[in-house]
Amino acid sequence: MNKRNNFGYKTQKKRNQSNKPYGKKRSALATQKGNKIQGKHSTINKHRGNKKKETLEVTCTGLSNEGKGIVQWEGKQLEIEHLLPGETAEITMSTSGRYVNSELKRIITPSKDRVRPICSYYYDCGGCQLQHMNEQAQKRFKQDTINKLMKPFGKPDPILTMDHPYDYRNKSHTTFGLNRERQIIGGLYAQNSHQLISMDRCLIHDPKADEIWKTIKDMMKSFKMQPFNEDTGRGFLRHVLVKVGKVSGEIMVVLVVASPIFKGKNNFVKALRKAHPEITTILMNVNNRDTSMVLGNQEKVLFGKGTITDTLCGMKFDISAKSFYQINPVQTEKLYSTAIEMAQLTGKETVIDAYCGIGTIGLIASQKAGKVIGVELNKDAVRDAIHNSKCNGVKNARFYQGDAGKFMVEMAARGQKADVVIMDPPRAGSDEAFLSSVVKLKPKRVVYVSCNPVTQARDMKYLVQNGYEVKDIQPVDMFPQTVHVECVSQIVLRDKN
Ligand code: SAH
Repeated sequence: MNKRNNFGYKTQKKRNQSNKPYGKKRSALATQKGNKIQGKHSTINKHRGNKKKETLEVTCTGLSNEGKGIVQWEGKQLEIEHLLPGETAEITMSTSGRYVNSELKRIITPSKDRVRPICSYYYDCGGCQLQHMNEQAQKRFKQDTINKLMKPFGKPDPILTMDHPYDYRNKSHTTFGLNRERQIIGGLYAQNSHQLISMDRCLIHDPKADEIWKTIKDMMKSFKMQPFNEDTGRGFLRHVLVKVGKVSGEIMVVLVVASPIFKGKNNFVKALRKAHPEITTILMNVNNRDTSMVLGNQEKVLFGKGTITDTLCGMKFDISAKSFYQINPVQTEKLYSTAIEMAQLTGKETVIDAYCGIGTIGLIASQKAGKVIGVELNKDAVRDAIHNSKCNGVKNARFYQGDAGKFMVEMAARGQKADVVIMDPPRAGSDEAFLSSVVKLKPKRVVYVSCNPVTQARDMKYLVQNGYEVKDIQPVDMFPQTVHVECVSQIVLRDKN
């Protein structure tokens, strides 16, 4: 058995065998892998090619952007998962070649910010990274992260937090496997791995979504449905994706399967609907590729309309299995309202909604703008955006499929004008093609919504170097318990431009 101290931190390496998927191994402690030591370092060189393990007593001096505890070791900075500032602790270090793996072994003096994580899978799963901190400490960490990154541009506003920072995810995907006793288990992959952690509840998921996949797991045996095994390529059910319309109550279940031949599918759908009459649509998605992507290309609606509808900021949105939709609708309303406020629309402006997804921000903005032009790479999302604009009776919005950078370059080349650009790129941020076209189009305002403030700060620097200045920066906690933080900023054209 694992020993857990007062904070739920495991102090031995053995783990509960029955949780382990068949034939796979993983250390019990959440370890930090591949902590690369930069530059010349004699201890490392001495052990090149050899493995060496030692135990050290360290004191944590701060937190990294990933929420890991920073400690100094032989003049170098290491990042230790689950360690908090001010804490002294024992860590184990194994060096191998130029790499050092460090892991928290024992906390000697705990921080007053430390709490026992509510989730019993916290240290195994890794999907959340901040549950060992109390709410105030989480808030401070996120605010400090944004303050540090945005320092060149001004002082960010206080982060908008969530009253009930659990149960918020409207989308979940679960994976299935076999344990040592060859019983079917379901749960999530541990962070950055394909190690399945068997669980029956994820505290940030919508509770209904967890109930549904557990029913499916229990149905699998009687329907002779085997979980898909990535190593052997055998088995059938790869994942279950559940999307919940938090306002509408509509629920989509996507059975991601390895083969299009789904024996007994009608009975399966019937039994699932009987157990959960609240499900409004069921789809089958065939993913027969050797990939870590959840969804494949082939999709078939087994029941219902194939999409769910939800309401956000007073407008209705149809969401399909593949299209992006913000996962925390409560905080999304705060984020979008802030973004629209920052856009300062008067009813006349031409607004570009770049990286528009299913058109949410653009359609909400269309009520206060002259015209909206949305651009998005994912064709399903564009189809949804067009459909959503019709459903909401919006007449002044157009949506285009394509790369936002290329689209903007073409707009700039045609000499087209835009008054406001609202941009919401993926984690990698925008690119030079896009940003240089913004500079050419000279909108008087850019509203930058981002789920990765590191790339946001990089892109903002480009705009500031090319005639813009930053007016407001508003962090929003869209992903409580995790290190992720959303941030929206208002960037305006300087007068002389
Ligand atoms: N604004 C939307 C979506 C934001 S997520 C919302 O709030 O719901 C980022 C979106 O950018 C995704 O829909 C993704 O498909 C899209 N995307 C990624 N790369 C892109 C590119 N190069 N050009 C245009 N859209 C892109």
